[in-house]
Amino acid sequence: MSLERRHPRERALGAYLGLAVGDALGATVEFMTPAEIRVRHGVHDRIIGGGWLHLRPGAVTDDTAMSLALGRAILQAGAVEARAVAEAFSAWMRTRPPDIGHTVRRGILRYRRSGETETPFNEQDAGNGACMRVLPAALATLGQPPQAVAAACRRQARVTHHHPLSDAGTLCVARMVQQALAGAGRRELIHGPVADLVRAHPEFRFRTRREENPSPFIVHTLRAVFQAVFDSDGFEECLVDVVNRGGDADTTGAIAGMIAGALHGPGSIPGRWSDALDPGVRREIQWQTPRLLELAGACSSAGGRRRRP
Ligand code: MN
Ligand code: MN
Repeated sequence: MSLERRHPRERALGAYLGLAVGDALGATVEFMTPAEIRVRHGVHDRIIGGGWLHLRPGAVTDDTAMSLALGRAILQAGAVEARAVAEAFSAWMRTRPPDIGHTVRRGILRYRRSGETETPFNEQDAGNGACMRVLPAALATLGQPPQAVAAACRRQARVTHHHPLSDAGTLCVARMVQQALAGAGRRELIHGPVADLVRAHPEFRFRTRREENPSPFIVHTLRAVFQAVFDSDGFEECLVDVVNRGGDADTTGAIAGMIAGALHGPGSIPGRWSDALDPGVRREIQWQTPRLLELAGACSSAGGRRRRP
């Protein structure tokens, strides 16, 4: 544990594995209500696959698949480069994923048609699709100036989503992960990135009623995630809390998983969950994580200082 606290690289692995584990856990109950989950599973806390996608146990969905595609694009281009990102998303769509979101599909089709990597503002684009896949951009810009982090988050987001609430929520999650990797605790995340988000967009206030059955609207998704991250103890409790709220449970699981994994490190992920994860997904996460951090120049020292190899 003490090693994990010191090394951003260990915590980054916790964030990426946490994302995939949360996705695989939540997918079983995606689009169910909390009452339906209780009848079917009691408390849902096992990675057993199924759900509306009829998944194998340990299989992940678009949340993790798009993150891995974004990570590959960043590593290939050596930066968060819009055309590389759009090409990677387009290649992923060619694999005919059954769970591709409407906004994502429309953005990729638009890119194929026009070659443009930024979709115009759209009132409908405030879904959680850009936020759920932001982790590789956060890792690749760790320790970089705030404007560079924000620009990278926006570049990957705007290939498919163009809405101020999506932009703001996506950047907030990236900053939460980055600060947690640098050693910040939950109080610092509340008073830093989350307070900034709520100041700019008060609809994200999360100390209100319990967010049940969260929709894919970024505001509902993040209110459920914030409540679970800040009002539970440790990775396991946080993830069980958020996915049992139902609704867009694989995505709330993925986003809560990346934040809780960054806070608590890979050692906090229950073995029965990490063992259940698709081995190919785990291998690619283990391959991408140090390389993305290397791009940021942050993997070589605990304080995130740059050092040439
Ligand atoms: Mn999904
Ligand atoms: Mn989802």
